[in-house]
Amino acid sequence: MKIAVIGTGYVGLVTGVCLADQGHLVICVDNDKAKLELLQKGQAPIYEPGLSELLLQNLAIKRLVFTEDLKTAVEKSDIIFLCLPTPSLPEGAPDLQYLWQVIKQVGHYFNGYKLLVVKSTVPVGTTQQISLAVSKQTVHSFAVVFNPEFLREGSAIQDFLNPDRVIIGTSSNQARQLLTELYLPIIGEFDKLIFMDERSAEATKYAANAFLATKISFINEIANFCEAKEANIDLVSLGIGLDLRIGPHFLQAGIGYGGSCFPKDVAAMLAFGQEIGYNFKILEAVKTVNQQQRALLIKKVLAFFKQNLVGRVLAVWGLAFKANTDDIRESPAVAIVTELYKLGATLQVFDPQAMLTAQRYLNLNITYANDMYTAVNQAEALIILTDWPEFKTAEFSRLAKVMSARVVIDGRNLYPLDKFENLDFTYISIGRPIVTPKSS
Ligand code: NAD
Repeated sequence: MKIAVIGTGYVGLVTGVCLADQGHLVICVDNDKAKLELLQKGQAPIYEPGLSELLLQNLAIKRLVFTEDLKTAVEKSDIIFLCLPTPSLPEGAPDLQYLWQVIKQVGHYFNGYKLLVVKSTVPVGTTQQISLAVSKQTVHSFAVVFNPEFLREGSAIQDFLNPDRVIIGTSSNQARQLLTELYLPIIGEFDKLIFMDERSAEATKYAANAFLATKISFINEIANFCEAKEANIDLVSLGIGLDLRIGPHFLQAGIGYGGSCFPKDVAAMLAFGQEIGYNFKILEAVKTVNQQQRALLIKKVLAFFKQNLVGRVLAVWGLAFKANTDDIRESPAVAIVTELYKLGATLQVFDPQAMLTAQRYLNLNITYANDMYTAVNQAEALIILTDWPEFKTAEFSRLAKVMSARVVIDGRNLYPLDKFENLDFTYISIGRPIVTPKSS
């Protein structure tokens, strides 16, 4: 099929590259010239496992093209994916200006039947509004469908190619047929294709993210309870997660969720609640607990250093909002680093992928270390803020040699407590008892 993808960010680039890899001819459009230049040279502007390889392969065989030219992309394509950003406005509702910039033009370029697929997360009713707007721009027949994206950054390619389900919000039979043809080879089973009306599909996306954010805030509250009662949240998570009604995912206690989706979509739901005169009490609490988790980690650091961080040398592992991404949008790690800096700590920071992005956006006088072991040099404590796999396999004997004090404050519960039984470290984590060195 001939496909255009408008907006080549985390969702659009992954969508474009994966569809090209499925054999489709894909034109990716963006208005960011610097990003396009990189992409045209085969360089991924974001870090996502497996992305670079697929990008290079499909660019080489010319199944994938990157351009600024929206008109030509629309003219040459049958299906047009809209993957534009919908960030939060100050009051929490999503800002649809980027989407509408494209919508205002797109119908004028139709030269035959076109299927517009909205992948951006949008308020209920937007797909129908887009359809109405486009109908005034063209004489050609078309359909607009809402097809929410559920990929997770850090495993986006894997998720795109192996989705739990594909939701398609449409009332058009032709759109249904085209998207079945597109998605069936990817998902393999017809049962995983879920068709519904546009409004329910739009609501489904927000409900999914709101529920996942709720799970995270819930387990963090239970972690705080465990901490006070000297129980171990790891065991509680295991114990409840094996219940099929609960499930094991998103039960990892820590410093809370971040990224470009959960905070924005929870804020949007709260704004939609205000719009309809409904108070989402659960989601208010989810948001509050999420902010509180960051503050709790800082409290732990302050408590350990007797409320004074001025001049303390602290190593930090992790800036990205989660492992396997360079994305620092709404990252709890970045919020914590910024706060520790304001409290006077001298910071030596390392992240495997997010250092460049952080250097670009953070205006802090901190040391960006070359690797995780350099970061801990002469540090009085190591603070872990992102769950990168390589941090899990760190050699503590190396840390012990170069740190000036053996203290780990772990905001991601990366290590089982028994790892510290024979290590001469103080280990402070979330929702679990503090481990102190046997010698103390
Ligand atoms: P992003 O900011 O990474 O990418 C958006 C891209 O659109 C950028 O490259 C930007 O330059 C481009 N763009 C902006 N205006 C444009 C215009 N007028 N013409 C052409 N290109 C333009 O955003 P993202 O994270 O990919 O998210 C896109 C949408 O998908 C959002 O609605 C988001 O909520 C949703 N979503 C994101 C994720 C995720 O994990 N990031 C997951 C599911 C859904």
